Amino acid sequence: MAHTHILGYPRIGERRELKFALESHWQGQGSLAELQQVGERLCADRQQRQVDAGLHWLTTGDFAYYDLMLDHAAMFGALPARFGLDPAALELDGSFQLARGTAAQPALEMTKWFDTNYHYLVPELAAGQAFSLHAGRYLAQVARAQAQAGGRPVKPVLIGPVTFLRLAKSARPQERLSLLPGLLRVYAELLAELRRRGIEWVQIDEPVLATDLDAPWQAAVTQAYRQLAGGERPRLLLTTYFGPVDHHLPLLNALPVDGLHIDAVRGAAQLPAVLASLPAGRVLSVGVVDGRNVWRTDLRQVLQALRPLQDQLADRLWIASSCSLLHVPCSLARDPRLEATVRHWLAGADEKLAELEVLRRGLQDGEASVADALAESDAALAERRGSALVRNAYVGKRLSGIDADMVQRRHAFPERSARQRARLQLPLLPTTTIGSFPQTPRIRAARAARKRGDMNAYDYLKAMREEIRHAIEQQEQLGLDVLVHGEPERNDMVEHFAEHLFGFAITDNGWVQSYGSRCVKPPIIYGDVWRPDPITVDTARYAQSLTERPVKGMLTGPVTLLQWSFVRDDQPREATARQLALAIRDEVNDLERAGIRIIQIDEPAFREGLPLRRQDWQHYLDWAVHAFKLASCGVLDDTQIHTHMCYSEFNDILPAIAALDADVITIETSRSRMELLDGFGAFDYPNEIGPGVYDIHSPRVPGASEMEALLDRACRVVDPRRLWVNPDCGLKTRHWPETLAALGQMVSAARAVRRRLATST
Ligand code: GLN
Ligand code: ZN
Repeated sequence: MAHTHILGYPRIGERRELKFALESHWQGQGSLAELQQVGERLCADRQQRQVDAGLHWLTTGDFAYYDLMLDHAAMFGALPARFGLDPAALELDGSFQLARGTAAQPALEMTKWFDTNYHYLVPELAAGQAFSLHAGRYLAQVARAQAQAGGRPVKPVLIGPVTFLRLAKSARPQERLSLLPGLLRVYAELLAELRRRGIEWVQIDEPVLATDLDAPWQAAVTQAYRQLAGGERPRLLLTTYFGPVDHHLPLLNALPVDGLHIDAVRGAAQLPAVLASLPAGRVLSVGVVDGRNVWRTDLRQVLQALRPLQDQLADRLWIASSCSLLHVPCSLARDPRLEATVRHWLAGADEKLAELEVLRRGLQDGEASVADALAESDAALAERRGSALVRNAYVGKRLSGIDADMVQRRHAFPERSARQRARLQLPLLPTTTIGSFPQTPRIRAARAARKRGDMNAYDYLKAMREEIRHAIEQQEQLGLDVLVHGEPERNDMVEHFAEHLFGFAITDNGWVQSYGSRCVKPPIIYGDVWRPDPITVDTARYAQSLTERPVKGMLTGPVTLLQWSFVRDDQPREATARQLALAIRDEVNDLERAGIRIIQIDEPAFREGLPLRRQDWQHYLDWAVHAFKLASCGVLDDTQIHTHMCYSEFNDILPAIAALDADVITIETSRSRMELLDGFGAFDYPNEIGPGVYDIHSPRVPGASEMEALLDRACRVVDPRRLWVNPDCGLKTRHWPETLAALGQMVSAARAVRRRLATST
């Protein structure tokens, strides 16, 4: 009979227990032992939920206090020498040094796990890196799972060697593959140990298989699994997810693994090909329950699709979540903020476990045995499909009215630029910030009081206006040229807009781990999006009333709203992006009408939306650019549109960034000492650009001369008449004293360079 399992479970805890335990430990309040107690309780709880749901395999080994890639690097003895840590003696606190940095050493780099919003720590490998096995904590996790399993089989998870190496960064990138044999030796050692401990199956994750791999990396996959298959070991379930892997099918079929997992949600179309060529005796695990999104599964449809597989494979069929459930909240069934109707359409991790059990029983005992569950699933889906909350005729009508003029500014940049200059009267190298100012305890207290109902709407508005007045005064004193209102009213740049748009639901507890102890609460887009009323216009108008200098209207762009939300699965992403764009377009136009001369549309997630495979990039870039232009092109020539992007690799999408045709882009660059700007220079980026001159992630106040040097470098790459001066990103995580000091230095630096430019021409 079909076996059920998941690829992983959220680590943070339903009430974010891990977050609070970690932070209390880091602040010196909770001991290491207390933290470990919380961690072990969470592990036990994750397992109990799998037991209670009736899953066949109990998945373990995927728990981490900070990050699983970090734990693998530590387990394989791959600690960067710069930390001076001994891998054989590494305790949890040592691994936190790697994750968070120390006074002397910056942390390991962090980057997005494939196309998710989870960030992993990038292992840092030395030239000729040696590996050694230090699996104490991992094996203890497995042993505790076994002790608790009551005889049920435990299936540990490992990140596979090819994925590990591919995502690591190496002193000599070209030689990364030469490290594979050494790495395989420690994997083999670990697998042998798991076998000795009675483990029957290991799940070995190779999500890189959903990406493009060139011939040497494909050969590495073959080499890795040939070698691992040879030794004493449990059976291997090779897991792929986040997309189809049929482009690697011959490679996969030739591997000596015992099972293959495929993502049948994102890669449903690959199923027939995978099935037709499945090697004899191989287990096929099909990920039919979406691990990336919060929608209920169409149980009847999935059951029908599974039946022929069951006939063909019998007990070689496993049914699973498409990927780890790490990317969804633990549960949505009890969230107090969700409307009951919408809640009924959703499934968090626990609800997904229950779905797997329904599917298993339906396969084993027939549909009649799960008639009630199927009826409930049918009803929820029918209700969702027919709901007036989902389809809105007004939105449909507006979408069909989109034409080419709506995605084109009235005139080309040179002409607009002349008009904007005449209107704005800015100096050379205008100074500005990215939008947010420090979110002080006072702001947070007001927000919390408002949420509890202890502060009325009027007093809250007054409190926010006080913050705005303060921010404007500070900026005037600093001598900044283009001001911002400071975003005190925004807890989160996506949630703030989601709260004011139809088609979005917001949860109280739908937390998902972003990295370490950081969690996000992505809004859920369930229906056609539209904007009933202006969102930011009053605030912008108020801020502008306090000063003669231009104040930027500040909006989150359509692609970022999409990217940082759970999105509908009943229409393509691009269709949702278009609706978001229309809503933001309305806001842009209203800001212009209210006299706002500069409007910034933030798109920090623009690059993140890129599909995993190159062949799909252009299609994404086309609709993402279209959405941004739809949002931004409704204004007159002399209204200046800014956008902002950060913390991504931009050089390979410069044509698309240029195609956005924003008048100004402010972009994070200072961490690479402006290297990024070289790309913009070489590409001959046509519009104005504000390369970040200081890193906002650190409380350190950079000196004016440091920033002057960066500006000088920028002036050599980009015509100074097209340059702006600004920090890398928003300042919400900083404190006021360091913010004022740093911006003061930044203004001095800009003035110094301006003076020099004036005398040299
Ligand atoms: N305007 C936002 C801010 O200043 C932009 C944040 C971001 O880029 N993530 O906070
Ligand atoms: Zn930013």
